[in-house]
Amino acid sequence: MMRQYELVERVKRYNPATDEALLNRAYVYAMRAHGTQKRASGDPFFAHPLEVAAILTDLRLDDATIVAAVLHDTVEDTAATLEEIGRLFSPEIRALVDGLTKLKRLDLVSKRAVQGENFRKLLLAVAEDVRVLLVKLADRLHNMRTLGFMKPEKRTRIAEETLDIYAPLAGRMGMQELRDELEDLSLQNLKPEVYATLAKRLEAFSETSKSLIKTIEKDLTARLAAQGIPAEVKGRLKKPYSIWSKMERKSVAFEQLSDIVGFRIVVGTTPQCYGALGVVHTSWPTVPGRYKDYISTPKQNDYRSIHTTVIGPKRQRVELQIRTHAMDEIAEYGIAAHALYKEEGEREDGESHPRLATESGAYQWLRRTIELLAEGDSPEEFLEHTKLELFQDQVFCFTPKGRLIALPRGATPIDFAYAVHTDVGNSAVGAKINGRMSPLLHELANGDEVEIARSDGASPPAAWESLVVTGKARAAIRRATRTAVRRQYAGLGRQILDRAFERAGKSFSDEKLRGALPRLARATPDDVFAAVGRGEMFSGDVVKAVYPDFKDNRSAGSPGSAQGGPDGAGRLSRKDQTIRLTFPEGSPERADGGAPDEGIPIRGVAGDLPVSFAPNGGAVPGDRIVGILTPGVGVTIYPIQSTALADFDNEPERWLDVRWDVEAGSNERFPARLMVESINEPGVLAQIAQVIADHDGNIDNVRMTRRTQDFTDIVIDLAVWDLKHLNAIVMELRAKRSVSRAERMNG
Ligand code: MN
Repeated sequence: MMRQYELVERVKRYNPATDEALLNRAYVYAMRAHGTQKRASGDPFFAHPLEVAAILTDLRLDDATIVAAVLHDTVEDTAATLEEIGRLFSPEIRALVDGLTKLKRLDLVSKRAVQGENFRKLLLAVAEDVRVLLVKLADRLHNMRTLGFMKPEKRTRIAEETLDIYAPLAGRMGMQELRDELEDLSLQNLKPEVYATLAKRLEAFSETSKSLIKTIEKDLTARLAAQGIPAEVKGRLKKPYSIWSKMERKSVAFEQLSDIVGFRIVVGTTPQCYGALGVVHTSWPTVPGRYKDYISTPKQNDYRSIHTTVIGPKRQRVELQIRTHAMDEIAEYGIAAHALYKEEGEREDGESHPRLATESGAYQWLRRTIELLAEGDSPEEFLEHTKLELFQDQVFCFTPKGRLIALPRGATPIDFAYAVHTDVGNSAVGAKINGRMSPLLHELANGDEVEIARSDGASPPAAWESLVVTGKARAAIRRATRTAVRRQYAGLGRQILDRAFERAGKSFSDEKLRGALPRLARATPDDVFAAVGRGEMFSGDVVKAVYPDFKDNRSAGSPGSAQGGPDGAGRLSRKDQTIRLTFPEGSPERADGGAPDEGIPIRGVAGDLPVSFAPNGGAVPGDRIVGILTPGVGVTIYPIQSTALADFDNEPERWLDVRWDVEAGSNERFPARLMVESINEPGVLAQIAQVIADHDGNIDNVRMTRRTQDFTDIVIDLAVWDLKHLNAIVMELRAKRSVSRAERMNG
């Protein structure tokens, strides 16, 4: 247990002007008050308030806070009274202990209303003096450090509450170090195996990367010194909890994490931060999209730093944070660091600091939150307001039975369904949000009540995998689609082969196919079906493998023949079109419909799915669009007004919510089809072509059919920038005397 003089020494180290007598009085008072009380560990109880005070000396807090920490459990747990404390110490210390005593009476239980009420009390107590919160957080930290002595249920409840409320609150107050420790301790208690595994891996990682970290530290320091920037460079491993939550969030394995080590460059002044950034960026290539300047735009909790990621000397990703000493202190200690600068003005780095804690951004947030309290919401509403504020990156939704489902921001009803149960996710076909039908890809908002419609035979479309935000949903979809997609491909492949053999006039059975398996280099007929369904193998090759003497006249180069020439598109059934798209020998709908990943700029579609436009009419930016998922084909984009969509009305699981992802000023063109009715007279086609050319439209194809003696119908496939562009062309065509009608066609 910490001795009396040790406590004084600790405070004196950062505050030479400390009131030693006051500290000694508090020590003796609390020691007498707690007497022979013991903690669950068997230690004398008095060790606890001393440890809490010690944590606060690390944050270099003032005498009143340290004394309040020493006394924090006396009023509730001993014969001590507030009056006595006010008399023996000071009204300020009395007020702090009063706040802490009120908090002590909170024993959070799992009921939401009670939790809300407690949280409200917590913030009310803090409202009077933010130092109450600092003592409370230190109190919680010490309790978490000694949680091992508690009964399992109690441990779980306290650890959950710490993760739920105290750790985010510490983060919100900018106290990163405290937050890290609270989170790690919670993980250690909630998931001991996970924690142990991660800790072991981190240790192994730290062993193997020790020399690399040293190399980078030295290299960076030298490069900075060469530019006249004195700097401290330190590499540090991420904490188990932050690694675990990243693995969960992104559903990746430890080995896939590229940012286990982060480097910090601490310099003297703000200009030196940018100087250091220049040195870093001219030394190594940067990783795009990873640069963030929280110096020019500080976070709400006053965090300031420059973040960037580069490809380091050994071709590995290196995450860097660049900041001054003062910024570093705020990043570590947050609102507690502001307390330090109370009496100080400018520091040696020439930067001014908030003179009072009340001026810090974190404290402003706290103030606003507390003002909300004063508006007298019910505890539940309050919890929703505040707890939700606290968890800016989370949304809280409910099942119809009132079960709370916490999800990361951006989550969809699909994520919700998987969070409830994997089976619910796999069979989800629709959702009601707050009683109204809603697309499964709608972004959920706080407080939404979500009801999932299920269909037993349903399986999740593969495209969902990239649309969901939770790791759980992603992993489950991957599992479910792997089997379902294969089954669908195989079904499609079988249909394609049935038809191919029929056209060839040859009989076909699994038995016959089995004989040809060695020639096709596949193990089972199912493998062949799946390969054909996926478009990896051509039906013609299968026919030839089964009937080696068969002559395929289509592959001999007569594309327009009988069954599937490009001009026949309009007469084919939907199935035939589907198949035609699958086969490379069918005419591509767009000349430029290249590789899927550099294909059509549509958001809401998995990167590995091929995307094509509706065969008759296309779609252009400005159109409201939907994607229809077809196994073996990918996603086909239809404008919402397309009549062809009626075909999919009974298959809601194939509908994808998609959006355009086209930058302004992009050169991308999109397919559209026009129907123009014109008067039969010489040169009319040239006139129409001129209008389109004048508007910078590209004509891909023109077909004319003389309808009557007087009129001709002209179908024009063209490529335009967007809907506005298309409409301008249509208007101009209509203005031509020789044009009696001009319409967009929506296949
Ligand atoms: Mn305590």
